[in-house]
Amino acid sequence: MSNLKPSIDKLLALVESKEEELIQLTQALVRIPTINPPGDYYGDCIELLRSRLEDRDFEINIIRAEGTPGDDEQYPRLNIIARKEGSRSGPCVHFNSHIDVVPPGLGWDEDPFDAKLIDGKIFGRGTCDMKGGLAASIIAVEALLEWMPDYPGSIEISGTADEETGGYGGVAYLAEKGWMAVPRIDHVIIPEPLNKDRICLGHRGVWWSELETFGTVAHGSMPFLGDSAIRHMTAVLDEFEQKLIPSLQQKVTAMPVVPEGAKQSTLNINSIHGGLAEGFAGFPAPLVADSCRIVLDRRFLIEEQLSEVKLEVLSLLEGLMKSRENFSYSLKDLFEVVPSMTDQNAPVVQSVARGISRVFDREPQYVVSPGTYDQKHIDRIGKLKDCIAYGPGILDLAHQANEYVGVTDMVESAKVMAIATYELLSGEQTE
Ligand SMILES: [Zn+2]
Repeated sequence: MSNLKPSIDKLLALVESKEEELIQLTQALVRIPTINPPGDYYGDCIELLRSRLEDRDFEINIIRAEGTPGDDEQYPRLNIIARKEGSRSGPCVHFNSHIDVVPPGLGWDEDPFDAKLIDGKIFGRGTCDMKGGLAASIIAVEALLEWMPDYPGSIEISGTADEETGGYGGVAYLAEKGWMAVPRIDHVIIPEPLNKDRICLGHRGVWWSELETFGTVAHGSMPFLGDSAIRHMTAVLDEFEQKLIPSLQQKVTAMPVVPEGAKQSTLNINSIHGGLAEGFAGFPAPLVADSCRIVLDRRFLIEEQLSEVKLEVLSLLEGLMKSRENFSYSLKDLFEVVPSMTDQNAPVVQSVARGISRVFDREPQYVVSPGTYDQKHIDRIGKLKDCIAYGPGILDLAHQANEYVGVTDMVESAKVMAIATYELLSGEQTE
């Protein structure tokens, strides 16, 4: 170990020397407006990654997730996996970044796809979430390859589609096909913007559902001849306010979820529609609503079972069946993901933790994300548990106007990634 220390310093210096390259790579990625939906310019972004990594002797696979939501000839769901084999057998370390960005929205001071560098920050849609992280992982790996050309195992870098819309044309598809699954890969780092000194172990669970109440149509001047689905829905919402939401606030997780408010179970009523259809500018027809629909977004904790989460809502609805005349409903599942949390002692967590303490001279903070990201597919479909999110950028800036990533943050987290990759490949500990 005695002569390892200066050598690791050399690796870190090598990462630092690539700062200009890191800026340019981030800017080049951000300037391709891979807006999703609909999934614009994926091909251009994949091409940029292909040419860069092919030049560095990576073996390239470009995989189109055919038949997944949104995939067609105009907007093919394209993914790239670049792999570089070492000189002998060993584990595979995989960096996974999504290449899609959400639409820029309004309120920008600069063009969101100009990727301007101002005072050490690169501004633009996708700088923080997560092209800065993708660029940092590429620079980390390139520095490592220069520093240690003779290494065991293999290194992979992927750029994947559609994370912002659920990942079905990206990581979910690749996990199903065995690309992002055991036994092909062993350790995964997802450079999502969780802040450079934090390790994100996983995420809370999600249950989306659509609830509809039914009524009987009648003339609006004689509502007593009909039965209002909206009034029935009001009764449901009242039960939520009086009973369900207060009981969710009592459920607090041991998961280190950030921000603090998300340590509880939560329910968001995503939307509500009832009666006359929206979008008509004329005078409304006088009708009693025969249907009212809401979409529920329920986030749950590792201590809760999905079946219990559903039962809470169902039993409340069954109660209304008994207490309210003519109450009827339908409840449809839209989407569900169970919580995921990697063990704090898992190899990828420990090696990134040592990287963080080396680079920042302090212990990392372990966190869990309030919302889900592609780790869910790697865990559930790919059956790989040794997976975390770790990357530069401030989480709160994601999806906002004037999103940016700090250049120093990118360089520092690239150092952490380089150390972690070295440890995971070699089985050595750097301290
Ligand atoms: Zn992201």
